[in-house]
Formats: sequence, C-alpha cells, structure tokens
Amino acid sequence: MKFCLECGSRLVLKECSGEGDVPYCEPCGAFRFPVFSTAMSTAVLNRELDRILLIQQYGRKNYILLAGYVNQGENAEAALIREVKEEAGLAVIAYEYMRSEYFAPSNTLMLNFISVADTEDLSGISDELDHAAWFTLDEAEEAILKGSLAESFLLTIIAKLRQGQTLEDFTPAAGAVL
Ligand SMILES: [Zn+2]
Repeated sequence: MKFCLECGSRLVLKECSGEGDVPYCEPCGAFRFPVFSTAMSTAVLNRELDRILLIQQYGRKNYILLAGYVNQGENAEAALIREVKEEAGLAVIAYEYMRSEYFAPSNTLMLNFISVADTEDLSGISDELDHAAWFTLDEAEEAILKGSLAESFLLTIIAKLRQGQTLEDFTPAAGAVL
C-alpha cells in the first residue's frame, strides 16, 4: 500500500511500537495497516462424517468448497454458519477451524473450517450455486479442482477424517442438537 486510503497522500514508513516499520500517513497522523478481505471456506460433512459437499459455481464445471466473505463486524464462525445456510440451505450443527491461507488473486485471507450439516437434504440450495452434491472422501479427492486452494484445504481435512474423527470432536454450533 503506497497511498493513504483516506486522503490519498503518499505513505512513509514509521516505527510503530512493537510492529516494526509500518506505512504511516503524515497528514492524517495515522498508521495504515494492510487492507485485505477475509473469507471462510468449508468442507461441509454429513453427520456420519463420510460424505463431503462440493459445489459448482460461476458457470465453471470444477468442484470447489463452499465459501463466502466475512462481513465487517461478524466473526468467522458466524459467517460459516450463515453462508452454509444461505448457499446450501443446511444448518451447521458442529464445526472446527482448520487453517488459513492468503489468496493473492482476490487479496483475501481464507479461513478454512470443517462443518457438519444437520441433514443431507439439498432441496434448499441457493440460486447462487450452479450445482452441489455429496461425495465420499475418495470421490471428493478426485472431483475437487486440481491445484486449487480448495484442494489443498480439502486434502488436509480428508487426512484428518481418515484418522478417525467423531462428531463429538467438533465444536457444537450454538443451540444445535448433535
Ligand atoms: Zn491520510
């Protein structure tokens, strides 16, 4: 970031206590920390933890993970539960944070979660999705878009599931009946 987002002045580097040199706007008298978006992506699982929901979106034929931006003022867990409901029509009953990756093409920090849905009923799928389907772990590994961040996240999750996770290993969603 070379210019102040508020006033457009050229930023200078200035020592910020404990943070090292940080871009600073002299007219505003304010440090300007990096600006980026935050999104969550999730492998939605069925209750038995043996099937994964993958989606197709934006007219592309590749399968990806369900994902969405975190709103300002919202935490990532709330975004996860909201997006799974909005896009797949499914209630999340349990979840677990996995790991994050910065995705340069959209300047977005992606936070990846496992989530567990209350049912496998896909009748409430949103128009935002072209298609969604349940896959076994083996099928999901085959179907996911190769070389994608979604694939990298999915392989981490599948490795974890193959170690023998149970529903009780995850954090229950508020008010959910496991
Ligand atoms: Zn400024």
